Amino acid sequence: MTTVTKESGAPAPAGAGAFLSVRDLHVAFRTEDGLVRAVNGLSFDLERGRTLGIVGESGSGKSVTNLTILGLHNPMFTTVDGEIVLDGQELITARESELERVRGNKAAMIFQDPLTALSPYYTVGRQIAEPYRKHTGASRKAAWERAVEMLGKVGIPHPRERAGDYPHQFSGGMRQRAMIAMALVCDPDLLIADEPTTALDVTVQAQILDLLKDLQQEFGSAIVFITHDLGVIADMADDIMVMYAGEAVERGAVHEVLRTPQHPYTWGLLNSMPRLDSDLGTPLAPIPGTPPSLLRPPSGCRFHPRCTFRSEVGGTRCAGEPPPLPGGRGAACHLTAEQKRSIFVEQIKPRLR
Ligand code: SF4
Repeated sequence: MTTVTKESGAPAPAGAGAFLSVRDLHVAFRTEDGLVRAVNGLSFDLERGRTLGIVGESGSGKSVTNLTILGLHNPMFTTVDGEIVLDGQELITARESELERVRGNKAAMIFQDPLTALSPYYTVGRQIAEPYRKHTGASRKAAWERAVEMLGKVGIPHPRERAGDYPHQFSGGMRQRAMIAMALVCDPDLLIADEPTTALDVTVQAQILDLLKDLQQEFGSAIVFITHDLGVIADMADDIMVMYAGEAVERGAVHEVLRTPQHPYTWGLLNSMPRLDSDLGTPLAPIPGTPPSLLRPPSGCRFHPRCTFRSEVGGTRCAGEPPPLPGGRGAACHLTAEQKRSIFVEQIKPRLR
C-alpha cells in the first residue's frame, strides 16, 4: 500500500519501512530571472508491487520530482533539499558513483520519447545488453542472450533477428517496447514511467499498459506512473497524487479520489476530460487561466487565482494562507469537508455523467 504522510507539521522519518520514501522535497532551478521553485515540500511513500499515479498539468513538478529521485537533474543549476530514501539508501546526498549503481540496477526510467532515449548509432540489442553487462558483470554473449530474452518478453516478434536492428528500423510502438525492455533488463525494484504512452495510438497504448501490468506482476516492481491522463491512471494505479504548481494537492487510493474527488483542481481536471457519451459539439470545460510562473508562485493556495470556489471560503484566506495537505486520504483546500462534499455532489458530479 502506498502510504501518505502529513506535509505540514512534523513528517514521519524518511525510510520508516517504505521502499521509496520522499520527505519534504524542494527542488529549485537557478535561472537568470531568479529561482524557479519547481517542487515545494513534497512527501510520499511507495511500497514494492504498488503503482502510484502522479497527475497534473505541464509544469506541475511531476517529471522534475522523478528525475530528482534518479539524480538526473543538473547539479550546476539545481538546488535539492529534503530526503529521498530508496530501499534504505539516501539518494540526495549520494555520490554520483552510488547513483550510477542505483540507476538501471535498482531503479529505472521509461521516457515519453524513445527516439531521444535510444541511441541511433547502436543496435537495439546492444543498448539493452550493455546496462545488463555493466550492472551484473555478465559476459557479452550472456548479456546478448538476456537482451534477446527481454525483447521476447515485451512482445517483439522474432527477437533474435530484431535485436540486431537499429532503432529507426523499429516502429514507434516497438521502440517503446524496446525501451521498456532496456528499463527492465536488470529487474529494477522501482520503475518510473514518464508519460510512456502519450506519443502512441490508443491500440498500442493499451498493449503497452497491459505489458507494464504483466511485467509488474512478474518482477514485483514499484511503479511511479506520470501522466496527465486520468483515464490511464484509473487503469494503472493503486494510488494517485494530484500535483499543481510543484505541490501535492490531493491524494489517496485511486478509486476513492476518482469517485469522490475533493480538490477544485481535481474537479477541473475531471471536468476537462473529453467524454465518449457527450453530444457531438459539446465544448470541453477547460480550467480557467493558466498554470502560474514558479519564479513567483501565488501566495496562499497556489491554485487560488484560477479557483472558482474561493468565494465559498470567504475573506482573503485562500490568497493568504497555504492549505495543508492532511495525512492519508485528503486534499489541500480550505473548504470544509461538508462544502467539498456538497459542491461535488450538486455541481461537479452531474457534469461528469
Ligand atoms: Fe480554491 Fe481556496 Fe481550496 Fe485553494 S484553498 S482550492 S483557492 S477553495
